[in-house]
Amino acid sequence: MADQQSDQVEETDREQSRSVSPYKAGLSCKCPNCGDAPIYNGLLELRGVCENCGFDLSKADAGDGAQIFVIMILGALCAIIGAYLYAAIGLPMWAIMIFLIAMIIGGTIWLLRVIKATLVALQFHHDAHEGQLTDEG
Ligand SMILES: [Zn+2]
Repeated sequence: MADQQSDQVEETDREQSRSVSPYKAGLSCKCPNCGDAPIYNGLLELRGVCENCGFDLSKADAGDGAQIFVIMILGALCAIIGAYLYAAIGLPMWAIMIFLIAMIIGGTIWLLRVIKATLVALQFHHDAHEGQLTDEG
């Protein structure tokens, strides 16, 4: 009986957490449960719990997942933009280098924040966790 009640409470919490879009929460770097409080302490450090609703954010560790997306997306964008600036516009190489370095630094920090927050929000939204072995096989 107690398990049923705790399951119901847990299910109700999950329904409420699903009311916040994981993509909206990720883009705004807000808590995936309430959608109000920021999930970062500083630039890229995740908070342990949400300041607003007390949601445990420490369970979701995106690990190195966000980095590969940033490398692929930003690398392709920089290659395309760099080639365009050189071939089509004819900017000098030093100007292209300065532009691309600024784009890489700013884009990396912004994209890492957004993609990491989105991955954390998607983990909560889909109730993702490590697999566990059961007796049933
Ligand atoms: Zn929250």
